[in-house]
Amino acid sequence: MRTLALILLALAFPASAHAATDQQMLQRFTPIAQQAFPNVCAPTVTFHTKAEMTAQEKGALGLTWRAECRVWMVTGLDPQLFCTVLTHEYGHLAGLEHVAQSGQLMSGDGAVNYEPCNVAARLTLPELKLEAKRSLADTLDGSTAFPCRPWRALSTYRYRTICRVHSERYEIIVNVRTQEYSWAYT
Ligand SMILES: [Zn+2]
Repeated sequence: MRTLALILLALAFPASAHAATDQQMLQRFTPIAQQAFPNVCAPTVTFHTKAEMTAQEKGALGLTWRAECRVWMVTGLDPQLFCTVLTHEYGHLAGLEHVAQSGQLMSGDGAVNYEPCNVAARLTLPELKLEAKRSLADTLDGSTAFPCRPWRALSTYRYRTICRVHSERYEIIVNVRTQEYSWAYT
């Protein structure tokens, strides 16, 4: 049954680009938000669809309940926006209100440009390779300790490997320029 489940899972996830999960990004970017606002409580962060967010506040990407130390974020944000929204919500936990100027961390219009997040959101090639392996491991409910062939360059930015997971072969391709990765059952 284990093998059947794996094959069905592999068929359900064809060769499409995968992104980091909300929980992975939360782990990755919490230190950035904590560095910006070191003295706030450690919030309970939950993820909600755009429709659920809209029911609370039109068009919001994040919401904060300061008294309860609770944060809502929209699910599926890209890494740079995830990081800036999370840090912005930490600003609210610290008691900050919105500012009128566009581009500031505490802008209320969503046009936030926060350099530490711009830097942190870009993965190096080794980090991207590891994240791709982690995504495959998470989906297959295992560890990243599966064996893979040495990575081969397909171009200046794209790299490919073949890994063996539970006796099945998976191809992983990463693109360090677009920051995307994909994997497929082969
Ligand atoms: Zn806000």
